Amino acid sequence: MIPFNKPFLTGKETHYIYDAVNSGKISGNGKYTQKCQKFFEETYGFKKSLLTTSCTDALEMAAMLANIEPGDEVIVPSFTFVSTAIAFVRQGAKVVFADSYENNPNIDADKIEALITAKTKAIVPVHYAGVACDMDKIMELAHKYNLLVIEDAAQAIDSYYTGKDGIKRALGSIGHLAAFSFHETKNIISGEGGMLTINDDRFVSRAEIVWEKGTNRAEFFRGEVNKYGWVDTGSSFLPSEIIAAFLWAQIENLALIQDKRKFLHDCYYQNIIANELVKLPLLPNYASNNGHMFYIEMPSIEHRNILIAKLKENGYNAVFHYISLHSSPYYYHKHDGRVLSNSDKFTDCLLRLPLFYELEEKDAINISKCVNAAFDVK
Ligand SMILES: *Cc1c(COP(=O)(O)O)cnc(C)c1O
Repeated sequence: MIPFNKPFLTGKETHYIYDAVNSGKISGNGKYTQKCQKFFEETYGFKKSLLTTSCTDALEMAAMLANIEPGDEVIVPSFTFVSTAIAFVRQGAKVVFADSYENNPNIDADKIEALITAKTKAIVPVHYAGVACDMDKIMELAHKYNLLVIEDAAQAIDSYYTGKDGIKRALGSIGHLAAFSFHETKNIISGEGGMLTINDDRFVSRAEIVWEKGTNRAEFFRGEVNKYGWVDTGSSFLPSEIIAAFLWAQIENLALIQDKRKFLHDCYYQNIIANELVKLPLLPNYASNNGHMFYIEMPSIEHRNILIAKLKENGYNAVFHYISLHSSPYYYHKHDGRVLSNSDKFTDCLLRLPLFYELEEKDAINISKCVNAAFDVK
């Protein structure tokens, strides 16, 4: 059986872990953490990068930095992972769910303004499949209503948005704050792992404090203060050097990994024939493709079940994705009853095909043929 995902190991992970362990500095914010953070800042133009133990943690840090409190409202797409919402819900906020576009699972930027009230504090766009949301529209709304934008860039490493000004910016460098994931299902991985990026000066020094259990320990170790203590809220968000050493081996192979993933994505795109039962993903003009995922859209859950079964018969594991959060058992009774039909459509109709570094071109071609042959389309 060809799995949906298989974590790729570059071969250097245990070497760098060995080095980290032998160096005697195993807790966080050591050599490997700093190498990783510097790489991300320099490559993608983030003002500040802080490794975290997950993207969920990075989102929780963002919610703390944004001072989200009971009574606040935060606008989140319904078609996303639980973490996008829970980071704000656990601060006491009410999550106001937004719908996706009809032709793309990302938050419909034209439907956000109607959801903004005097209580709204933040908008959380999720770059689904690493494909950019319409950031110009979202940043304009944030400016107009004095809101924060926290990008859920969990799937969006090495992906870009080209704005109306013609400038190409890395996802995660546009919002005030952004969260990435290095979970083993993402493009570059550390088992569990994540990163908060900070692009607004107001949050830079406080982020480091929240990251280090509410203490100014990082400033102390740089010699900027002569003792350290409890100065703010926070938690233990930083990963150990063992995790950062693993991530460094992945970073060294980022270009290789990205080339292969994008190649496989293009292979599907070119070999799957779009028809009335199979829709190919849309890449807006302003977005780049980072090869995170390849999905197709079916007309109904029944069609999708048939295709999942046919792919399975042929030895391929294809999987559906999110289930609309506005109708989840934990939150549906707090949702205001608005129908979010596009989010529900992607819940029922979106299907993800296997995509991982070691998948071979012939597999992607065979899977494409299997999709093409599944329905007898005239
Ligand atoms: C993977 C993912 C997360 C969670 O990432 P973790 O690192 O597992 O916490 C959050 N949001 C989205 C959109 C994701 O894809």
